[in-house]
Amino acid sequence: MTTITLAHLSKRFTQSDDAAKSINVLDNLSLKIASGDVLAILGPSGSGKSTLLRLVAGLIPPDAGEILFDNVDLQQIPVTERGIGMVFQDGALMPHWEARKTVGFFMSLRKREHEVPARVARIAQITGIGINHLLDRRPAHLSGGERQRVGIARALTRDPRVFLFDEPFSNLDAKLRASGRVELKRLLSEFPVTSIYVTHDQIEAVALAHRIAVMRDGHFEQVDTYQDLYNNPVNLFVATFIGTPTINLFTGTVHNHRWTGTTFGGFPLRADLDENTPVTLGVRPERFTIHNGGAAIRIASVMPYYAERFALCEVRSTAGEAFQVSVPLEILPQAGDTLHVVPNVDALLYFDPATGRRIG
Ligand code: ADP
Ligand code: MG
Repeated sequence: MTTITLAHLSKRFTQSDDAAKSINVLDNLSLKIASGDVLAILGPSGSGKSTLLRLVAGLIPPDAGEILFDNVDLQQIPVTERGIGMVFQDGALMPHWEARKTVGFFMSLRKREHEVPARVARIAQITGIGINHLLDRRPAHLSGGERQRVGIARALTRDPRVFLFDEPFSNLDAKLRASGRVELKRLLSEFPVTSIYVTHDQIEAVALAHRIAVMRDGHFEQVDTYQDLYNNPVNLFVATFIGTPTINLFTGTVHNHRWTGTTFGGFPLRADLDENTPVTLGVRPERFTIHNGGAAIRIASVMPYYAERFALCEVRSTAGEAFQVSVPLEILPQAGDTLHVVPNVDALLYFDPATGRRIG
């Protein structure tokens, strides 16, 4: 089993021939992934996720910093001994090979081809899905989901030290994405290979990974469990990026050592903030309580989530602020209704509006 360490990793790309126009696509990334753990890299498109994965795969060199597998610099490990299983967005299968050859390729290189059928059978057993019927087909005759299964089987049959996934399910429809996620989760718990899973989908990240690195513009904003990212975001970017429906933000200021806004106010906050300091308050939609003494809100629209037993309501306060509140379905909220709500005091998140940093 392998520990992965990224130490002060940076990568620049030159946009044209002019070196001055080069941009830092990755900027001083440091991180350690324990042996057998799955780390998700979660970030918007263009944040540098694929570039980071290509560096860890050894496909491109860093400009600064190191990648260590078990404390050995990747550059010092011969390519044949790196043991990297990579799964790409589009499967990246050889177009003219039958799946059988793709799946067995690395084993045949090592004269261990005879082990492939048992491996494939084991994968089929764990996922509950046979791929034998796919093995005689070429990629053109496989659906998107089938191609990804073959890609994952290929990566697994080569006995990887490290597994790298680059949005493997993003080209699939929602249902296939969900089942692919479940199959992969089973495989990863059965073959605990140290893995990096790149995605822009937080449902995938929380389902598959032990920890999540939130990436933006080539750097990590926060590396934590989903629960900590959700409850304790370090800044406004993480707070708004993590969580669907999105967190509500209210502008306000400090008055008598209390947060005071337009709709709500009088909430305790850090004692060292000066009077009139601007502070943004974040409250997630499900962290409101219906309460007679609360602020009056009028429901503009209702979006029911039947499985989760709540309705997401777009509301407007008497003071004119628009936000979202999750209301239990039993209350039968209707557009036009008026409710009274208060945010839960233990769920208030305060941010400095100038820097975005969390301040309480
Ligand atoms: P993500 O996978 O998060 O969408 P990428 O790692 O693909 O992001 O890209 C990050 C940034 O680096 C983007 O701005 C992209 O345009 C740029 N980039 C990626 N590869 C190259 C390259 N070979 N040359 C120049 N710029 C690149
Ligand atoms: Mg990408």
